Amino acid sequence: MAITGGAGFLGSHLCERFLLEGYRVICVDNFLTGSVANVEHLMAEDGFRLMRADVSQHLSVPGGLEAVLHFASPASPSDYLRLPIDTLRVGSNGTFNALELAREKGARFVLASTSETYGDPLVHPQPESYWGNVNPIGPRGVYDEAKRFAEAMTMAYRRAHDVDTAILRIFNTFGPRMRPFDGRAIPTFVRQALLGEPITVSGDGSQTRSICYVDDLVEGIVRLFNSNLDGPINIGNPHEVSMLALAEWIKELTGSSSEIAFIPRPQDDPTVRRPDITLARTRLGWEPRVPIEEGLRRTIAWFEEHSPLWSAQDQADLATTAL
Ligand code: NAD
Repeated sequence: MAITGGAGFLGSHLCERFLLEGYRVICVDNFLTGSVANVEHLMAEDGFRLMRADVSQHLSVPGGLEAVLHFASPASPSDYLRLPIDTLRVGSNGTFNALELAREKGARFVLASTSETYGDPLVHPQPESYWGNVNPIGPRGVYDEAKRFAEAMTMAYRRAHDVDTAILRIFNTFGPRMRPFDGRAIPTFVRQALLGEPITVSGDGSQTRSICYVDDLVEGIVRLFNSNLDGPINIGNPHEVSMLALAEWIKELTGSSSEIAFIPRPQDDPTVRRPDITLARTRLGWEPRVPIEEGLRRTIAWFEEHSPLWSAQDQADLATTAL
């Protein structure tokens, strides 16, 4: 199978899991926001191949393919705000190229879409039937609309070309291999707590997210891949937590003496976010198993182990506001 974005946070966990399942995995990545370090441990595996390519330009893979999992895209707000055109291109041209590859090979296609397709939702929790509340011209529109376009393109290939497609709407996921300076809430809070810096919560911290540990997400993806469902299907943990409560939780788990500092809220930042996972429960027999506290402990342990490697380059990635 081919996994685009395979050298990123989620992609690298997927490469690992599908190798364990006995698949030959071709990881296609241009390292825009991912890194070789995420898959270095897989290089010696017989079934693993790393291919450097920009999927927005061109995507061709020799031989047969059973699946194309399209995960390439900047995903953290600070990444897509600094890379708006790349984000729109990978959601549009990149999705087109990945779908063409799946069509050519007769492969099952899985699109990594997102809860951001719901925008700042007016329905809570969000079922797949909700069409969302997205500002197309705001700064976040580059990501939200790229993913909505990618979903539309995926359905068009299913209808027009009979490609076996599935759309997965991923809710906030966390775990080892997130970049400490990528601007997402959990890596930011953990990094700040470990360094004893102020933990920066935006607004008054009452906005919520529902956070899922990466192993649970990967299990959901494997089940979706093995099913004949087309989606869209929400995969996420309904455990909803306010940003302030999350910051306090991480402070406690790290034993940090950091203060909590309040910073301005980014434009169009969603106020609430929680998946309705009835469909995943009933059709895939899936639900999250790892308690959030356990996931946070594993993530903190990984960050502690890797903090000596945090470099000036990482710090250059640090964006201003996005959480
Ligand atoms: P990530 O930034 O760690 O991984 C994205 C990967 O895609 C990186 O390795 C990057 O180099 C690669 N990439 C980007 N543009 C590319 C291009 N043009 N050609 C080839 N490779 C390219 O992010 P992630 O958190 O692992 O997210 C992976 C996917 O899951 C994304 O599509 C994202 O939208 C989706 N998603 C993630 C979350 C989450 O909570 N992590 C939530 C919703 C959706």
